[in-house]
Amino acid sequence: MNIMVTNDDGIHAAGIRALAEAMTELGSVTVVAPDRERSAVGHSLTVHTPLRIFELHKGWYAVDGTPTDCVNMGIHNMLPIIPDLIVSGINHGANLGDGITYSGTVAAAMEANLMGIPAIAFSLATFGPSEHFAEAAQIAVHVTRTVLAHGLPSDTYLNVNIPNCPRSSMLPPLITRQGKRSFVGKIIDKTDPRGRKYFWLGGEESHLTDEPGTDFHAITLGHVSITPLHIDLTNHKSLSILSKWAF
Ligand code: MN
Repeated sequence: MNIMVTNDDGIHAAGIRALAEAMTELGSVTVVAPDRERSAVGHSLTVHTPLRIFELHKGWYAVDGTPTDCVNMGIHNMLPIIPDLIVSGINHGANLGDGITYSGTVAAAMEANLMGIPAIAFSLATFGPSEHFAEAAQIAVHVTRTVLAHGLPSDTYLNVNIPNCPRSSMLPPLITRQGKRSFVGKIIDKTDPRGRKYFWLGGEESHLTDEPGTDFHAITLGHVSITPLHIDLTNHKSLSILSKWAF
């Protein structure tokens, strides 16, 4: 089993170290990850500047690009064979609800799915300091084992969120749907030391609608949340409505 590990928090993040180390239980691990923090870059691809690879130590490669760049570099350039699995994370911070559209962690799994490679994104549900990455990585191994035993449907990749608590107090995984944010976070508006205005997005954690069956609800209760995702953004319900309009 060959496993590629990536993330969006950068190759030096605690979450990717824990995940890569834990995944060695399942197979041979190669890390290809951004050389720095690239959170919230979504599915962006670097096309106007070149990319460079830095080998930090054996099997650990930093790329000066986005998570999506890393998946492309890993598959098309760096790995000798196509990996059996790509895992992304463990992100420092939950990736829940429609907020996942910003996520580089989830986008890396999406890119892997576009390439036909089974993929899982893992996130730890806290933006504060955490001592639970190693335990979360054990959960990641457990989830991955189950996924490998069954095999993912080809148009499916997974978004897994893990509560920030000891494994002993974690509740079992729930299969969930993507929740909805109830409102978008604020913009901080301040003045710099030279008297110029500056703005800072995302001043607070986004609030999600706490509906049963959603990823957010599962995490709030202390369950591991597993959401199957697919890439097709077509609104299938609207197809029949719009097809009746006289365009
Ligand atoms: Mn991140």
